[in-house]
Amino acid sequence: MLEKKEILDVEKVIRDFEVMTKDAEKVQRETLRMILEENGCAEYLQNLGLNGRTDPESFKACVPLVTHKDLEPCIQRVADGAFSPILTGKPITTISISSGTTQGKPKFVPFNDELMETTLQIFRTSFAFRNKEFPIENGRALQFIYSSKQIKTKGGLFAGTATSNVFRNSQFRKAMKAMQSECCSPDEVIFGPDFHQSLYCHLLCGLIFHEEIQLVSSTFAYSIVLAFRTFEQVWEELCDDIREGILTSRITFPSVRSAMAKLLKPNPELADLIEKKCSGLSNWYGLIPELFPNVKYIYGIMTGSMEPYLKKLRHYAADVPLISADYGSSEGWIGANINPSLPPESATYAVLPNIGYFEFIPLKENVEEHMQDSGNVSFLSMEPKPVDLTEVRVGEEYEVIITNFGGLYRYKLGDVVKVMGFRNSTPELKFVCRRNVMLAINIDKSTEQDLQLAVEEATKLIAKEKLEVIDFSSNVDVSTDPGHYVIFWEISGEVSDEVLTECCNCLDRSFVDGGYVSSRKVDAIGPLELRVVRRGTFQKILDHYLGLGTALSQFKTPRCVGPTNNKVLQILCDNVAKNYFSTAF
Ligand code: AMP
Repeated sequence: MLEKKEILDVEKVIRDFEVMTKDAEKVQRETLRMILEENGCAEYLQNLGLNGRTDPESFKACVPLVTHKDLEPCIQRVADGAFSPILTGKPITTISISSGTTQGKPKFVPFNDELMETTLQIFRTSFAFRNKEFPIENGRALQFIYSSKQIKTKGGLFAGTATSNVFRNSQFRKAMKAMQSECCSPDEVIFGPDFHQSLYCHLLCGLIFHEEIQLVSSTFAYSIVLAFRTFEQVWEELCDDIREGILTSRITFPSVRSAMAKLLKPNPELADLIEKKCSGLSNWYGLIPELFPNVKYIYGIMTGSMEPYLKKLRHYAADVPLISADYGSSEGWIGANINPSLPPESATYAVLPNIGYFEFIPLKENVEEHMQDSGNVSFLSMEPKPVDLTEVRVGEEYEVIITNFGGLYRYKLGDVVKVMGFRNSTPELKFVCRRNVMLAINIDKSTEQDLQLAVEEATKLIAKEKLEVIDFSSNVDVSTDPGHYVIFWEISGEVSDEVLTECCNCLDRSFVDGGYVSSRKVDAIGPLELRVVRRGTFQKILDHYLGLGTALSQFKTPRCVGPTNNKVLQILCDNVAKNYFSTAF
């Protein structure tokens, strides 16, 4: 008998979304009430004197804003197996390990069924909107997804990256089937113990099912670029495997080998076809549609720290649309991309008002306004009061605060977002940057976005020579007097000293923060230094994070390496091939 396939009713998902966002304020109150009722017996809330109250006003009066550091002792007790309810009413059975790429060390956060459900709600919502504009047929998805090692905490809880917790959940596979986006690789590949081997096998599976592939995706765009860069190196080996029907000896894990053996049959025609296609490409332009003729789009988070990979992704994609995936974190989801036809650079995320209770700390302009209103100088040192979801204003920037079903209450996520508009009464947010990724020496404050823009500008100079910056990072060097910014670049080939000196000057001139420019002019900040690192340096950084338990699916290159991240700084500094100082000021 044929298996009955449950297909997602996209019209219903869209209708539900429209209804729910009509009165987002009411849904937010109701969501907060449910969170506090379900978890009111948890020790954390009990100690704050809410006494059963569930309204936003009492909640804000009693519950402080916190960071991960504040909650760490509570989360550790949960991980250690504390018997009583600490953060949530129901016991937490799983821990998510965040990538920790910005702070340098992975963080523990609780994960539970409710967070799984909100994950699926986000996936379904964006899929429904996406599928209306870019319908996919019943095929397969080439998904570059990887699981981290699952460990057990002292208290016996399972701990893995948030994405691994999602991929392992039986609901995930069901949901992917309903969205006609089932991964073409077997579980043994996704959960394989070595990401290099998994990546090779994902590519091989993609080629075996090349005509069926409807979309190419990963959690973050970085992994897609990494996959096709790897393809450039291993394509001949992949063709050999397909021709002979025998898997390369580089795949050593028996479970992965036997799963792949079930798919791999000798297919010389396919091997010839791929060889012909690859040989016909110019500098791998349009590789993705060439290999997968029925691909409808490429999907993954493409905003924020992923933007620098877009150029390379477009090169591989040619005219296949790039669609940014949703906005969330190990701590919980925030919004879905309901405007899939916008290019990734303009992607926004509509907040789903029933997946958590959201507040927003106004930044920049609002702060000045508050200061003028108060006329009080001491107010200068205070952070403005957070506003509610429906009180945010278009065009303004905020830090996101999450309260959710996973035991986080008024948790400062550390992300900066800008409100671009409203869908019904819920805001559509653009991701701006991490709040704490900042280069600062004097009165300057250069954000992750400032750094990205400066690098984008300077890379134009090497693009003329058909070269690219594979990856980059930065730090502030205060061992010199005055201190100065250091930018690390890994480049795809040899560039002359002359051009690199020009790049260095361009970087220095492209930091637009007023504090930076004025400090440079009076030499309160020294000349910017460009350090070119050897090929493979950023791979070493990735390996370092994978060793700490991060999964490739969630990896983000640390853009600014702070003093707490000395291992990464050491990798960068040990691999410097050349350095240049700016003469721009
Ligand atoms: P992690 O908890 O390690 O998965 O990292 C979550 C962080 O990734 C978020 O706090 C954001 O800084 C970043 N992130 C997640 N989704 C997006 C997105 N759609 N655009 C830009 N950055 C994102």
